[in-house]
Amino acid sequence: MTRSLAEIYRGLVLLALTLVLAASFPASAFQDSAHAAFSERFERIKQDASPEELYRLLYAMPKGGDIHNHLGGSSRSEWWYDLAVDPDRNGGYRYYTKTMIHNCPSGTGRPADPARVGEVRPRPYLLYFQTIQASTYATLDECKQREYEPLDALDDDNRAAWLSSLRLELPHEGRDEFFERIWNRIGELFRNPHINAELLVENMKRYGAEGLRYLETQTGAAGFVDPRGEPIAVDDVVNIYRARLEQADALATGVVVRFHQTVLRFTPDAEQRVRDAYAFVDRYRDLWVAVNMAGREDDDKGHPERFRQVFAEMRRQYPDIRLSIHAGETDRPSRHVRETLLLGADRIGHGIDVIHDHDTLLLLRHGPFLLENNLISNHLLEYTPDLDLHPFPQFLRLGIPVALNTDDRGMWDSNMSDEYYVAVTRFNLSWSELVQVGRNSLEHAFVEAPIKQRLLAEYDADIRAFEQRFGVGDWRAGLWDVKAETYGYAERHFGIIFE
Ligand SMILES: [Zn+2]
Repeated sequence: MTRSLAEIYRGLVLLALTLVLAASFPASAFQDSAHAAFSERFERIKQDASPEELYRLLYAMPKGGDIHNHLGGSSRSEWWYDLAVDPDRNGGYRYYTKTMIHNCPSGTGRPADPARVGEVRPRPYLLYFQTIQASTYATLDECKQREYEPLDALDDDNRAAWLSSLRLELPHEGRDEFFERIWNRIGELFRNPHINAELLVENMKRYGAEGLRYLETQTGAAGFVDPRGEPIAVDDVVNIYRARLEQADALATGVVVRFHQTVLRFTPDAEQRVRDAYAFVDRYRDLWVAVNMAGREDDDKGHPERFRQVFAEMRRQYPDIRLSIHAGETDRPSRHVRETLLLGADRIGHGIDVIHDHDTLLLLRHGPFLLENNLISNHLLEYTPDLDLHPFPQFLRLGIPVALNTDDRGMWDSNMSDEYYVAVTRFNLSWSELVQVGRNSLEHAFVEAPIKQRLLAEYDADIRAFEQRFGVGDWRAGLWDVKAETYGYAERHFGIIFE
């Protein structure tokens, strides 16, 4: 009797273990023989493919989601321009941009608008291509008006310079150009909700073409104004997003979108902005899923410990508001990742300096927290000037959940395929590693659980279909109809241009 009870007990333990293992390793595209065969073939493709062939293969590959993304920074300057000069698409606004500096009396910048993320300092006066809307232009004195031209009247040279001024593409351009100048130039285009909604759909179209099914992007709904410069109610801005997402071309992308409300961390009132962000996300949970904090970490006023109390206060009030917070995007070792996990973050934006924080690195191995890596961002903003030394392969192969993301792809003149191309060519990623990186972006997504399960199932099915498409016969034949789109980063850094 005792023996049979023990056997039953052992049997139950075995059954429980089996169930736990089955839950940990769900049947997916990873384990079957087709996957194993394609893994072998992928190693040969890496050897045999030209750079263009490898790029097109990676362009066509299913990639899960982009979960570290700023909507404004993700939008290409051509998209901004085309919308800004088209009142039919932009809600009836007209724009002017600064093409001259006349050293006007009281030539200071416009005062900061505390309602806007990014506007904590006055806009600099000595900065070309700051764009303002007609209602603001009308308030300028005659001298300052002569510094601006209508955006739709720029000559070819100035138009090209305006487009370039929103990209980080010249050798001397780096972190300061990005943080202190590009965002200021976009200026009041940020205050137009129609332009933002259109840019969202432009991004969805390009991501859909690149094999993505999910986008978590950082954007808000406060501080927007109408063509007369009058404030637009937050409810109305949210409804503009909702309505745009329901249009046929947005639905046709197949890309599910959710938003983060992001707090600029170094402002004097950043704690209050965190409270406001929680209240906002709580009110618009159909689209907003998380609070984020961003802003250059070399400004010590935004250090993580400052926010310990306010996040504890928020946990006393709100259930189920997720946190992804930028941390560890630094040049020198810090404890920012550890301190940010203590704020309650489930995901860390960047996290690159945790490579030096060994206790926290150990904590992350095989753990529940994900690092949102952004290789090209870290390259162009000089956090990892030599991409060969990026800690991404250390994280990946130490078993730390990590995903590839684009951060501000419009300003990098880049896309998600560039991130994958860098990862494969610099770090020799295997097929299984690539598939895992894409899957991580969905497993750690903040979207509602049923949608996440659907996205994961679709991702696995897409990977299987991809393995069949390129795993049988001549893999090159499968590339014929891959219409890959590349931009300036791929041309400058990989030597790849597609017409
Ligand atoms: Zn970011």
